[in-house]
Amino acid sequence: MASPSWLSAGKLVLASNNKGKIAEFEHLFEHLNLAVQVIPQGQLNIEDAVEDGLSFVENAIIKARHAARISGLPAIADDSGLCVPILGGAPGIYSARYAGEHGNDTANNEKLLRDLVPYREANKPIGGMFVCVLALVEHADDPLPKIFQGIWQGEILDAPRGEQGFGYDPLFWLPTLGISSAEMSKAEKNKISHRGQAMQALAKHLA
Ligand code: IMP
Repeated sequence: MASPSWLSAGKLVLASNNKGKIAEFEHLFEHLNLAVQVIPQGQLNIEDAVEDGLSFVENAIIKARHAARISGLPAIADDSGLCVPILGGAPGIYSARYAGEHGNDTANNEKLLRDLVPYREANKPIGGMFVCVLALVEHADDPLPKIFQGIWQGEILDAPRGEQGFGYDPLFWLPTLGISSAEMSKAEKNKISHRGQAMQALAKHLA
C-alpha cells in the first residue's frame, strides 16, 4: 500500500504538551519504523488552542488545525474523557475540569460520585465509557481530517479502587476482568483502553 502523502513531510506536530501522550506517540512511531519525527507543539512554542467544540471529535480537529496552521506542518491531536449516559454523557469533553479546576482528579471524582447518588440502585450497575478521538490533518485547512476513535465500556463504581492510572481510573470498573482500571498496569491498560484502541487504528492506517 502507498504511504499517506503527508508522511513525505517527514515531520508531524503533536498538538499536546502532555509528557505521557508525547511518549506514547513517539513509541508508536518508533515501533512502526516510519521516517517521521514527532514534534511536540511546545518545542515550536505553540500554545494550547481554545477548545470550544461540543464533541471530542470537534476539539481534536480544532487542536490539530491550530498546530498545523502555526507550524505549517501536518499535525495530530487527541481528545479524551469519560461519558456516563445516565448523566447525558457528562463529564464528556469537560472531564478534565468537571469540578471546576483543570486537572483536579480528586475533586472531579468526588463530583462524579455525588452526581450519581440519585441514580444508584442496589445491584444495578451504572454504565460509563472512556472515549478517545485522534484527529490527523495534513494541513490547517484539510477538508478531510483522518479520525481514529476508541471507546472502552465499563461501569462507574460507588467508591474509588486502585492506585494506578490517573483521572477517573479509580472509579472505572471492568466487570469482565473484575478490576478497576486503576488496578491495571500501564501496559495492560494500553492494550485495551480507549487510547490504545485509537492508537491501534492509527497504526493500522499508517502500516
Ligand atoms: P485529555 O484528553 O488529556 O484532555 O483528558 C481529559 C480528561 O479525561 C483527563 O483529565 C481525565 O480526567 C479523563 N481521562 C481521559 N483518559 C483517561 C484515562 O485513561 N483514565 C482516566 N481518566 C481519563
